Amino acid sequence: ESIIIDTETKQYPVYIGSGLLEELRPLVEKYTRVMVITDKNVRSLHLDALLNHLPEGAENCVFTAPAGEDAKTFEVYKDALTFAVRHHLDRKSCILAFGGGAVGDLAGFVAATYMRGIAFIQIPTTILAHDSAVGGKVAINHPLGKNLVGVFYQPKFVLYDTDFLRTLPKVQRLSGFAELVKHAFISDEAFLSELKKEVPDGDHILSPRLPELLKKGIKVKANIVQKDEKETGVRAFLNFGHTLGHALEAHGGYGAITHGEAVMTGMVYALMISRKQAGLQFNLEKFTGWIGQLGYDWKIPSGAKFKEIYAYMERDKKTIAQKPRFVLLKSIGEPELAEVDKELLRSLFELQQKGRL
Ligand code: NAD
Ligand code: ZN
Repeated sequence: ESIIIDTETKQYPVYIGSGLLEELRPLVEKYTRVMVITDKNVRSLHLDALLNHLPEGAENCVFTAPAGEDAKTFEVYKDALTFAVRHHLDRKSCILAFGGGAVGDLAGFVAATYMRGIAFIQIPTTILAHDSAVGGKVAINHPLGKNLVGVFYQPKFVLYDTDFLRTLPKVQRLSGFAELVKHAFISDEAFLSELKKEVPDGDHILSPRLPELLKKGIKVKANIVQKDEKETGVRAFLNFGHTLGHALEAHGGYGAITHGEAVMTGMVYALMISRKQAGLQFNLEKFTGWIGQLGYDWKIPSGAKFKEIYAYMERDKKTIAQKPRFVLLKSIGEPELAEVDKELLRSLFELQQKGRL
């Protein structure tokens, strides 16, 4: 089964389900060469399975990046391009991203820029990638900021074989699941209830229904991206939980906490603000009880100082004329973008830091 992503510049399918790798070979036969970009961990766990479904000789064209954010540096980007040149990739070749969001972002940027752009294919292996593999944003990091160097570049297709998720460590499951919860919050209450029911605690994230839930999440993102490919309006709603989330990530140093864990903390913050100023009726105590069961630590880290975090939030992309703006919820499924008073931000920050709501 596939979900069609329809953007102004291109239309492409996301195939999702268990065992889909079996379908790969005919989809890549037309390319003169397939360069796989993966990372160290995914290579050791799953590369053999992938190679079994690629044309003969593919094993000679595998570029292995370091795991995590270390994949998204200028050095690794340059090494990948050198690899492409040395392996004679031409305009009819393709770059295949095999890994999580970091590998996808790196590989997409390589594909978008090598010879002014060659074909790009994504085979995601993390839960988080249900988010990152949809929407066409690809980027590497600049020493002065994350994702600062990138373009919009859509893949030919995404083949999301959910069997790869079985080897994901718990912290990475939690990181990706937070984005799924985000997609539920900005779309509808029934989706959120379903997540609570299917995933009552941290041991059930890989529920048999996960592929279905991921499909729903992808559809939420696809819908928004379709309306707003280049992020001028509704796409900002995808940043629910991200204003504080990004600030916590930047403040702690990338990698200190996962993206999803930071976003979960940021969503709790945005929900607190929403109750105060957007009229949201929501049982936050019950919600934090659930995510606590899952294994999230939703308190703002005790070492974080409001002044410093606020400075990061001021620099957020959504900020206009120095006032940080937040995605708030009027109700579940009804997001809005709003400025929030600094003193309210401060008082709720201090409450959440103490674990009070
Ligand atoms: P990741 O690629 O760093 O993967 C997380 C970790 O899991 C890595 O250590 C990786 O080696 C490991 N891993 C991957 N698949 C595995 C598997 N099947 N089994 C065991 N281990 C596995 O990152 P991520 O968490 O998937 O994504 C985060 C990245 O995505 C960030 O760089 C972020 O900026 C980017 N992102 C991009 C977008 C976008 O729209 N382009 C959106 C959200 C996030
Ligand atoms: Zn995110």
